[in-house]
Amino acid sequence: MTKTRVEDLDWNNLGFKYHNLPYRWTDTFEDGKWQGGHLTQDSNLVFNEAAEELHYGQEVFEGLKAYRRKDGGINLFRPDQNAKRMKNSAERLMMEAYPEEEFIKAIKEVVKANEDFIPPYGSGGTLYIRPFMLGTQEVVGVTPSDRYIFRAYATPVGAYVKGLNPMPYVISEHDRAAHKGTGQAKTAGNYAASLYPSFLAKKQGFADCLFLDPREHQYIDEFSGANFYGITKDGQFQTPKSESILPSITKKSLLKIAEDMGLNPVETKISVDELDKFEEVGAMGTAAVISPVGSITYKGKKHVFHSETEPGPITQKLYDTLFGIQVGDLPDKYGWVVKLT
Ligand SMILES: *Cc1c(COP(=O)(O)O)cnc(C)c1O
Repeated sequence: MTKTRVEDLDWNNLGFKYHNLPYRWTDTFEDGKWQGGHLTQDSNLVFNEAAEELHYGQEVFEGLKAYRRKDGGINLFRPDQNAKRMKNSAERLMMEAYPEEEFIKAIKEVVKANEDFIPPYGSGGTLYIRPFMLGTQEVVGVTPSDRYIFRAYATPVGAYVKGLNPMPYVISEHDRAAHKGTGQAKTAGNYAASLYPSFLAKKQGFADCLFLDPREHQYIDEFSGANFYGITKDGQFQTPKSESILPSITKKSLLKIAEDMGLNPVETKISVDELDKFEEVGAMGTAAVISPVGSITYKGKKHVFHSETEPGPITQKLYDTLFGIQVGDLPDKYGWVVKLT
């Protein structure tokens, strides 16, 4: 696959897609130890047809971004949290964790090596980094791999959804993760399970679907790739407490920011029958930061939040505050930002 050249990119229309940049970080786990990571120009992976990951899904991944500041420097946002979460995901999938310091080093090296591809300040674009790990041992019987590849590539992405446009969502009749399954791990299998429900939602004209808890189908879980929040009329920032959702770093950060804004942050079970208590609803995750949810349709009834065309004022402020911290325009009072240069 041919490499993307900087001059081929239109910073204001990047979308969210893969570009083959000059460098990525790669490492292998063999003979009981990591062999030592390094940058490589080779964007292909080579492994056997019987590799564990291909048949039994032993894979975990992460997603984080590098941001160009106004002064030209580069910020990372809470990469330690991604390193820790990847370790937790790996342990759930019986994989060898990638050491936290190596993970951070990998991210920094990949960003520096592809620095020319970080979208300029003000374009809304960022450099998205995708670290991942897979089991490569040849297996036929189901057993954890004893060999792994760790890799981290980067690709420039635009503002995931341009401007804050509210979107319509629908409650899915399917589940993405089982109760006490792998919902808390960032693993490929959860996404494979969400493809069909997501397809059905889109076919009906929705932006995507929202999953309920897999045991009772009564409480809100999350979207296929983003956590849920709702703002109540009395100023609570509510987000689901559930064993089958991915612990979002964006959520963790917004819980703090909401509190700073004078909202009351609450992690609790949220019944799908109580949707009308929310003034505003949003989806949170690294890719979009926040996507405002204009409506949720459940059993044929559409519940509208704030407006179907304009983001609510609290949603707008949460977004502006978090993105402002990430890109270095606002003070980083919690020490979340890692300045690369
Ligand atoms: C990655 C992901 C999120 C968002 O997590 P962030 O750390 O905020 O990017 C939410 N839900 C799922 C299922 C995810 O995979």
